[in-house]
Amino acid sequence: MENSTYINNHMELSFDAVSVNEAFSRTAVAMFMAQLDPTLEQIDDVKTAVSEAVTNAIIHGYNEDEPEKQVKMKCMYDENRILTIKVIDEGIGIKNIDKAMQPLYTSKPQMERSGMGFTVMETFMDNISVNSIVDVGTKVTMEKTIGLRTL
Ligand code: ATP
Ligand code: MG
Repeated sequence: MENSTYINNHMELSFDAVSVNEAFSRTAVAMFMAQLDPTLEQIDDVKTAVSEAVTNAIIHGYNEDEPEKQVKMKCMYDENRILTIKVIDEGIGIKNIDKAMQPLYTSKPQMERSGMGFTVMETFMDNISVNSIVDVGTKVTMEKTIGLRTL
């Protein structure tokens, strides 16, 4: 609908859980949100948060022997200019979400992870929530309002 007051939009991507797709996913989100006329800082914030969530899905989401490793990313914005991004895997899940979200907690210290991914997402987005079920998967939902720019 070509109408400047109608800005609702939605898209979904599904991609293999491999690290080359981190860059792909954050660039895709940047392109998707362009319609909201974000500042460069807002774009960078969202890209950073998406990188962390997608990296987590790829690195922590799946066991090595899983045959089908896919990450889904669902993005939308509405008339209130709230950008919502969901990053979903169907992997091992998170047993203790509160613990996982604590700054500096990592289950992979041997991989030189710093345990700051969720903290970064919380810092750069307005809202983040995590739903996870062990052996079913994890869904990270992030929101950020991209307000109208005034001169
Ligand atoms: P960093 O992001 O700083 O490299 P990290 O990934 O370990 O380190 P967080 O991103 O904050 O730190 O995640 C904390 C922990 O939550 C992870 O170590 C992992 O145990 C768990 N986790 C995060 N995302 C997922 C996921 N999609 N599936 C399963 N476990 C996850
Ligand atoms: Mg992480």
